[in-house]
Amino acid sequence: MKILVTGRDGQVGYELQRSLQGLGEIVAVNAEAMDLADFDAIRAVMREVRPALVVNPAAYTAVDKAESEPEIAMRINGEAPGIIAEEARKLGAAVIHYSTDYVFDGHKDGAYTEDDVPMPLNVYGRTKLAGEQAVQASGAPHLILRTSWVYGQRGRNFLLTVRRLAAEREELRIVDDQYGAPTWCRTIADTTAHIVAKLGAGKQGAGIDLDLWQSKSGLYHLTAQGRTTWHGFAQAIVAHWSCERKPAVVPIGTKDYPTPARRPANSVLSCRKLTETFCGLPKWDDALSLCLD
Ligand code: NDP
Repeated sequence: MKILVTGRDGQVGYELQRSLQGLGEIVAVNAEAMDLADFDAIRAVMREVRPALVVNPAAYTAVDKAESEPEIAMRINGEAPGIIAEEARKLGAAVIHYSTDYVFDGHKDGAYTEDDVPMPLNVYGRTKLAGEQAVQASGAPHLILRTSWVYGQRGRNFLLTVRRLAAEREELRIVDDQYGAPTWCRTIADTTAHIVAKLGAGKQGAGIDLDLWQSKSGLYHLTAQGRTTWHGFAQAIVAHWSCERKPAVVPIGTKDYPTPARRPANSVLSCRKLTETFCGLPKWDDALSLCLD
């Protein structure tokens, strides 16, 4: 079957091209080939490629910048996923879309489930929530995979920032009162591929089994297991680093590190629905060790 992957140069998009190998013919596009801010371009590419499955990791992911660019963030994160999903429905295709832990306000004590009511604190979270709702409203068979704190060996992410700063500074001051689950982009891509393999292709091999995909449609949380703070994450990165001089990693409060976008104090997601339906997920520190190795 034909699989259209957006955001091919992003953290998750790049890994998806590797993980989905062998599950179909992959057509991977960047913003030049399919700009999510250009709805006519989305429709044109969808109608030309005619995929059986669209996997959409492309997004406006600059959380702080989104506060001053709400319109473009909403167009890319809130509206474009709905256009993709509407076109998918017309083609008889399924959609896998990614969303974020930042749809929650962080006031819950335990891990958030898919049934908890989203209440985003920032523009990015509001636009991603709008995207979820647009995909849900489209009528296309869909999986919306909410993930969190994504890192990897390329792109812009916390891991690479900590490694750069650790080489330059004696001391790193990192927020220790926001809890979440750092998730390796390869875990997200491999789990996505596992789900695609499990749901399989259509009986003729060219399309998908619409009824099966429809029966599994919905929201799923997909993060590494366990929880930590940004400080704990930084400590684990530095501890793994084999160099003589390691910087001190000093815990600070959110109030000491003001950012344009507010972030939830707790955005740990319960992944029970996904693990019971599809497959297991690694612990965050095991996945981090694998990534750093
Ligand atoms: P990245 O920022 O690494 O990649 C996003 C991709 O989207 C980039 O390739 C980017 O292209 C592309 N893109 C941006 N604007 C457009 C546009 N107008 N048209 C087409 N493509 C565009 O994101 P991740 O891989 O980290 O994120 C994957 C998914 O996971 C997203 O849905 C994100 O919201 C979600 N998520 C991410 C988290 C994180 O910490 N990163 C946390 C929680 C959820 P270019 O490189 O050219 O800019």
